[in-house]
Amino acid sequence: MTVSKKIVLHFPRRLVDRPIVSRLVRDFNLDFKIVKASVTPNEEGLLVMELTGERDDYDNGIRYLTEAGVQIQDLSQDVVRNEERCTSCGACVTICPAGAFELDLSTRQVTFDNEKCLACELCIKACPPRAMELHF
Ligand code: SF4
Ligand code: SF4
Repeated sequence: MTVSKKIVLHFPRRLVDRPIVSRLVRDFNLDFKIVKASVTPNEEGLLVMELTGERDDYDNGIRYLTEAGVQIQDLSQDVVRNEERCTSCGACVTICPAGAFELDLSTRQVTFDNEKCLACELCIKACPPRAMELHF
């Protein structure tokens, strides 16, 4: 059975330069399509990809990534903002590697574009009033 899933890979700083993803094709017969790639302010790598292959190959590929030290997150997780809690303090604007927040200078309000979100969760920890939430 073929599996195709959108996942986020979190690479710790020590792994950012290593050719880890290329082995998914070579050693595990998997195909991948990179949706988005970025480096967070603390130099961790983030890669959003669609990974496709036979079930066993997929599971072996995920195991390989995990054992290599890559954290994997299913993109069925969704980061949403509780609008009632947001005070537009701006703490999330510079921390977001995807540019999902913008400060509207005319209104002084911070906007949030969920479509750009990589579900890295950095804003969840950084938001003082805990307005950013992870939904499953
Ligand atoms: S850090 Fe939280 S409260 Fe501040 S602008 Fe961002 S979402 Fe709103
Ligand atoms: S989880 Fe927050 S910081 Fe991370 S990409 Fe999404 S909006 Fe940006």
